[in-house]
Amino acid sequence: MNNRQLFLSHLAQTTDFPLLIEVEKAEGVYLYGPKGERYIDLISGIGVSNVGHRHPKVLTAIQAQLDKYLHLMVYGEYVQSPQTLLAKALADTLPKNLDNIYLVNSGSEAVEGALKLAKRYTGRREIISCVNAYHGSSHGALSVGGNEIFKRAYRPLLPGVSHVNFGQVEDLSKITEDTAAIIVETVQGEAGIRVGSKAYFQALRHRCHETGTLLILDEIQAGFGRTGKFWAFEHYDIQPDIVVCAKGMGGGMPIGAFISSQAIMAVFKNNPLLGHITTFGGHPVSCAASLATIEVLQTENLINQVEHKAHLFKKLLKHKKIKEIRNKGLMMAVEFEDFDTLKPIIDRAIELGIITDWFLFCEDSMRLAPPLTITDDEIRRACDVILQSIEENS
Ligand code: PMP
Repeated sequence: MNNRQLFLSHLAQTTDFPLLIEVEKAEGVYLYGPKGERYIDLISGIGVSNVGHRHPKVLTAIQAQLDKYLHLMVYGEYVQSPQTLLAKALADTLPKNLDNIYLVNSGSEAVEGALKLAKRYTGRREIISCVNAYHGSSHGALSVGGNEIFKRAYRPLLPGVSHVNFGQVEDLSKITEDTAAIIVETVQGEAGIRVGSKAYFQALRHRCHETGTLLILDEIQAGFGRTGKFWAFEHYDIQPDIVVCAKGMGGGMPIGAFISSQAIMAVFKNNPLLGHITTFGGHPVSCAASLATIEVLQTENLINQVEHKAHLFKKLLKHKKIKEIRNKGLMMAVEFEDFDTLKPIIDRAIELGIITDWFLFCEDSMRLAPPLTITDDEIRRACDVILQSIEENS
């Protein structure tokens, strides 16, 4: 059997129409197939490769760690310098109240940890999230997801979860003294890139202070420079009580974190002790990769260029079939009439070597989230292909 047949026979399938792109090597913004195909990855493996695929400094850090040790012990017992140095570097990017970092393996696990933490710290049981939110696919994360189609088949889910409309100040009165936490994506991703106003985020922060509710910001897609700031909440001059991150954090390695203050995080130590347990959380190789990723973001002037690159995409992608482009930095959605218009455009662009996608809860919009390392020339080439693909399907 060839690789494609093995994929279809022995790997669990999650749709009947997987992309089936075979990749032999990846570098920078490019993926290379076994028959010499070359693609520009305009989705960064879904918001992961912010520093590009196999960034040399990330590879060097991984290789150096390989010579020292791999897994040693479950999270939270041994002093491992890849973890401690990463935690310090993360804390240095954040406001002072966010200096205590719990390292996990993925976005969903970070969300699970954050929700448990909020319940324990406040002693409250109710959690609020947003309509059309995506926070992950495990039971807790799915419970605070905001799309009924994905949740329906898995009930019963967590009790005490209710939803408000993202971006609507009027809805904030639903946060009360019974609410342990509200979890909000700083920029809604899978809803098709929905951006809230600064006034909304400030009102949200204010209402949480008023009611003693913890504000959890999900920066799993929006963090690590994607929106033109290291953390997307920096656009809104607010500080969450808990922030969750993953995806771009590892520079291509699996890692996530939920981050809060020492005072809040301390509740995991007692009654019962070991309030959240993970075997692999903070894997030393992933931590080394993550630390290198932060250094790349801070030293290679990538975040400063996000706005310019986003602007170039918006300037070039002009066509009567494009109804709207929504974005916060290089987290972008290009809206078409409907899925039937968009799908052949995406398929043709992939044939022509440009990988894009749509969104879980927004099928009429094309996802653009290229590595932040993409050059102006590569943006021009990618936009030419997208426009060609639109024309060929007109
Ligand atoms: N939150 C957001 C905003 C996400 O975009 C995702 C993944 N798409 C998750 C949480 C879940 O992350 P993971 O797939 O690593 O569990």
